[in-house]
Amino acid sequence: MSLTLAVLKGDGIGPEISEATLSVLAAASDRFGLGLSFEDVPVGLAALAAAGSTYPAETAARVEAAEGIILAPLDTYQYPEGQPNPSAQVRRTLDLYANIRPSVSRLPGAGRRLDLVIYRENTEGFYSDRSMFAGSGEFMPTADLALSVRKITRQASERIARAAFEAAARRRGLVTAVHKANVLRQSDGLFLDAVRTVAGEFPDVRLEEVIVDAMAALLVRDAARFDVVVTTNMYGDILSDEAGELAGGLGLAPALNAGDDHAVAQAVHGSAPDIAGRGIANPVALILSAALLLQRLGARRGEPHLAEAADAIDRAVTAALADPANHTPDLGGRSTTSAFAAAVAAELAG
Ligand code: ATP
Repeated sequence: MSLTLAVLKGDGIGPEISEATLSVLAAASDRFGLGLSFEDVPVGLAALAAAGSTYPAETAARVEAAEGIILAPLDTYQYPEGQPNPSAQVRRTLDLYANIRPSVSRLPGAGRRLDLVIYRENTEGFYSDRSMFAGSGEFMPTADLALSVRKITRQASERIARAAFEAAARRRGLVTAVHKANVLRQSDGLFLDAVRTVAGEFPDVRLEEVIVDAMAALLVRDAARFDVVVTTNMYGDILSDEAGELAGGLGLAPALNAGDDHAVAQAVHGSAPDIAGRGIANPVALILSAALLLQRLGARRGEPHLAEAADAIDRAVTAALADPANHTPDLGGRSTTSAFAAAVAAELAG
């Protein structure tokens, strides 16, 4: 068995948390005989310095050829005007329509008890820079009038709903569809209609519908009751930050961007330039994102070893977090990025 992952180490804390993640993956590869190898693909400010672009054509070609990709955070604020945002490029060119964001409480005695996963539609909605075939969904007809167009299609709504129902069928059997169809009757109405259609294919999964503002409150009140949440792009963006915070904070929040043919492990947090280069960034989010990637590739390729390795990484991270001596400063501890990774690798080695 062998598998090569493309690794884009990103900007800011990206290279540090990438190294930590690769060391954990290498330990999992040894333990489970995965035959993992890594291909370093330049991106971001390093690629700009070396090749004149934050997302060179060569990088795009190598990403398109890879089944599994790890994309560390990018400091796009630092990019000169006109340089591409690699994250948006990757999502668009690989048609990564599902942004999968689990929130699980792992810190003993802190945060809420929750174990949910948000399936956020990733290709349309209010994201004006990427939702249109040509041009932008946001425009200003006059200096004092700004308009933003939200795009919702049946096809995109059905495919994110299908991904969510498939996940719920493997989990606790509940899908919560989040919407604002009482106000956005046409667009969120279409989204809900698509979700209900897909629900018909999954008689063993229960569907509930919750209005987005109520959802924001319910997450605070009783996050433990949710299993799989499916929603449109911007609601998913906001609610997953809320759920991530309830589960213990940004440094712990993983994500997978998935399409039919490719999947990209990508932490929810940004490049944290304020702490870059100090060796103190929390690598948990990217490590858990990589575990989600292995899970996905295991299911796609019919290789249970990959899913077993993913579960083992998940358990090893939880075990390492149980000891406050392993906590990085964002969790109130004094540990380092590499020491945390070593603790996870030691757990994996058993
Ligand atoms: P960007 O411009 O790339 O979005 P940002 O600093 O504006 O970066 P985040 O990177 O998400 O946004 O960071 C928000 C805050 O959380 C920062 O203070 C950052 O240091 C902290 N933070 C984010 N990720 C981590 C992490 N993995 N470990 C420790 N602290 C983190």
